[in-house]
Amino acid sequence: MKKSRQQVVSGHAFLGDELAFVPVDILIENGVIAAIEDNPRAPELWICPALFNSHTHLGDTIAMDCGITGDLEALVTPPDGLKHRLLRAASRKDLVGGMRAAMAEMIGRGTFGCADFREGGIDGVNALKEAAQGLSFLPFVFGREGGETVAGGLGISSTRDMPDADRLVSDAKCAGKKIAFHAGEKDHGDIDAALAYEPDLLIHMTHATKKQLRHCAEEGIPIAVCPRSNWMLGVASSSRHPPLALMEDLGCTICLGTDNVMFVAPDLFSEMAFVSTVYPIRPAAVLKAAVQGSGVFGRSFFIRKGNRANLFITDPAGSALRFSRDPLSTLVKRGNSAEIKTNIFSW
Ligand SMILES: [Zn+2]
Repeated sequence: MKKSRQQVVSGHAFLGDELAFVPVDILIENGVIAAIEDNPRAPELWICPALFNSHTHLGDTIAMDCGITGDLEALVTPPDGLKHRLLRAASRKDLVGGMRAAMAEMIGRGTFGCADFREGGIDGVNALKEAAQGLSFLPFVFGREGGETVAGGLGISSTRDMPDADRLVSDAKCAGKKIAFHAGEKDHGDIDAALAYEPDLLIHMTHATKKQLRHCAEEGIPIAVCPRSNWMLGVASSSRHPPLALMEDLGCTICLGTDNVMFVAPDLFSEMAFVSTVYPIRPAAVLKAAVQGSGVFGRSFFIRKGNRANLFITDPAGSALRFSRDPLSTLVKRGNSAEIKTNIFSW
């Protein structure tokens, strides 16, 4: 008989998608959370669900902080935006090394997966798979230019840049791939066209109308928002864009992403701190948005019985965090000060 692998972790855990903070023992058997039992004497460690970054472009790590002097088109719009020129000029070795370094950085900060828009066709997707080899990290890849045939999904820059999207989308859907679009980044004009394809994910929705958001809520279409990227690129300058409070009121599935590594670090603690500073939404909703992409793209990281155990443990005693009167708010606002002691990755 095969011996089962058992592990017990004890501490104060953020449980379920309500993220209730409870002192518990968590029994993990063969990577699955087999039981969660109250333990009033659990040590003062914080047990947090792993984070999932719902929108990245890992490939442009090689163009990190190359200078933001243009607008959206000049920087990131295919085929000749600055990032595309830099990507074409990079060696494959540097490209793979850059993506691997970005993923390693994320793991160190409690993020165990991401949904990436990968440029460069089939070879581009394979380069990302190669970069992830041996890491405790799971990238879900949206390919393009043929890359979708070897990836989990098709990622479309915007319906504006892709007039022949009909055939691409129907081929990808027939092959069982997920479909994602950038939409509503600088105005709401490309959102209805994206919604018409019944996508699995929309990215940005910075300038979405109430009607468009209601449609997403009713159809259960998750939205990956990337507020820091929006501010950096000058497409947002107030708490109304992206309309996070309205999204929450309408019951949208909000996921947090960090977008282009070239100008925003793929660090969800920084993204959560920014969101909680600018946008009037509850800390629990912010942390939930930093986790729930895991369920959209694979297995939910929320800590509940029956889920795989994907979590990290921080020790507040190692920093000023031990003085927190509200650990959930503290994790969201200043999680970057947390000392991460243990990662448990059981995808
Ligand atoms: Zn993007």
